[in-house]
Parts: sequence; structure tokens; C-alpha cells
Amino acid sequence: MAKLVLDAGGAMLKTQLEYKAIARSVVFEVLNESYSTHTCSSCGTLPDSRPKGIASLGIREWTCFEYRAEHDRDVNAAMNILAAGHCRLAVGIPSL
Ligand SMILES: [Zn+2]
Repeated sequence: MAKLVLDAGGAMLKTQLEYKAIARSVVFEVLNESYSTHTCSSCGTLPDSRPKGIASLGIREWTCFEYRAEHDRDVNAAMNILAAGHCRLAVGIPSL
């Protein structure tokens, strides 16, 4: 039940941000957050050592054995989303 409430709140937040951005001629883009917790933010791969499946949702920390990078699940996801945003900015923002 709590997840449904958070999802509804997240959808409302996105809607409001998009509305405000358009009203002020600001670029607004929703990034695909799929695999953001599973992709290693250090090497950019989906290592075999990543948490997998529904049962892995309780795993908060994991190590990428490619480069021995230790990750907090939420911080790793935030780093991947931040990097995706930077990549988007690097190729330029279309004019509205
Ligand atoms: Zn890695």
C-alpha cells in the first residue's frame, strides 16, 4: 500500500514539474530509471555480482567484482541517474 502511495506521489510530482517547466520554457525530460540500481556506477556494466530479482530488493549494498567497487543501492542508482542527465546535457538541449 505504501508503494502505491509513493508511486502516485511520484507521478504527481513529475506532472507538476513538467507543467512548471513548460510554463517557463525550461527543458523537462524523464530519464528511464530501469536498471539504475543494478548498473555499476563505476564501470557502467551490469555485472554478474549485482543484486537480481525480486528477492534482491532487500539487498542494500553490493560489490561489483569487475573493479571491486562497493555500492549502496540508492547512492548507486542516484549516481547512474545523474550520469544519464549529464550525458543528455553533453549532447545538447533542444530549443523549445
Ligand atoms: Zn563496476
